Amino acid sequence: AAKSAGGGRYQFFSAGLNEQAQERVALEAALRDALKKDLLTLHYQPQLELREGRVVGMEALARWHDDTLGTVAPARFIPVAEQTGLIHELGAWVLREACAQCKRWHQEGYPVTVSVNVSIKQVMQEGFSEMVVGTLLEVGLEPRYLDLELTESMLMEKAAESVALLRMFKSLGVQISIDDFGTGYSSLSYLKNFSVDRIKIDQSFVRDVTVRDDAVGIIKAIVAIGHSMGLQVIAEGVETRDEQEKLLLCKCDQVQGYLHARPMPPVQAAAFLRDAFARAAAASGEDVPPS
Ligand code: C2E
Ligand code: MG
Ligand code: MG
Ligand code: MG
Repeated sequence: AAKSAGGGRYQFFSAGLNEQAQERVALEAALRDALKKDLLTLHYQPQLELREGRVVGMEALARWHDDTLGTVAPARFIPVAEQTGLIHELGAWVLREACAQCKRWHQEGYPVTVSVNVSIKQVMQEGFSEMVVGTLLEVGLEPRYLDLELTESMLMEKAAESVALLRMFKSLGVQISIDDFGTGYSSLSYLKNFSVDRIKIDQSFVRDVTVRDDAVGIIKAIVAIGHSMGLQVIAEGVETRDEQEKLLLCKCDQVQGYLHARPMPPVQAAAFLRDAFARAAAASGEDVPPS
């Protein structure tokens, strides 16, 4: 009896693993198909300068709706893309789409940057920088309007290689942000070696800021360190006015979050920019840009 029970448990366990593996295989096949059929889209979320509320950038976030699977979150399909190598094709598509969109915003009179999330696997692949340069040239976007977001944990995992990689990006003239900052156990000595322009304070710290006094202290410290290194500091996941006020007290430079806008499809993103720039122009007495 003991043996069959043990066998049963074993079977159950392996069935569980199988299910996981099967789901991954199914997801991979569907993602491959979605890329081929151009079924992914990008949503854009504004990044605002905190003191005056100007929109300075838009972050591109990949979206996938599959007829059978429904809406699949990036948290599910990005890891699959990374594990299967599809991230190269996906990443190249995201980069081109986001840069082309940014160029159109510029032509409409909204000179914002576009932030593109990139995975370490992707950037370490041979030819990545050539692909970036090629895309920028083709689209006609100046490098300084492209911001590459790399997570702190990815950078720390490959710390030694990352130092050289980031220097190379700098030489291209693109901006670099460290995403999810505060969750990846950065050593400050590395931060000093990383040639980056901005750190993005992870939303877990932002969430704590109105409930825990020490969270304010932590953010103040991050901002002070960032500023001492000449970096901009943006807080992500800002949902309430309360949080935003605390961030202003912490001398945070920029904010991004549901308080201002959720990630939006291109049409809504354009409307958001139109309104934001019209308001800014009215406030400063300039002409309203053409719509
Ligand atoms: P991330 O780059 O840190 O993006 C921030 C995430 O927080 C996004 O989730 C965004 O929708 C969400 N968010 C923004 N504001 C708020 C807020 O006020 N409250 C809350 N609760 N959430 C907020 P999303 O779009 O599901 O993306 C998750 C992650 O997937 C991203 O985290 C990024 O690491 C990755 N990702 C998304 N698109 C791409 C892509 O094109 N390439 C790569 N490599 N990764 C991507
Ligand atoms: Mg990001
Ligand atoms: Mg983040
Ligand atoms: Mg993240």
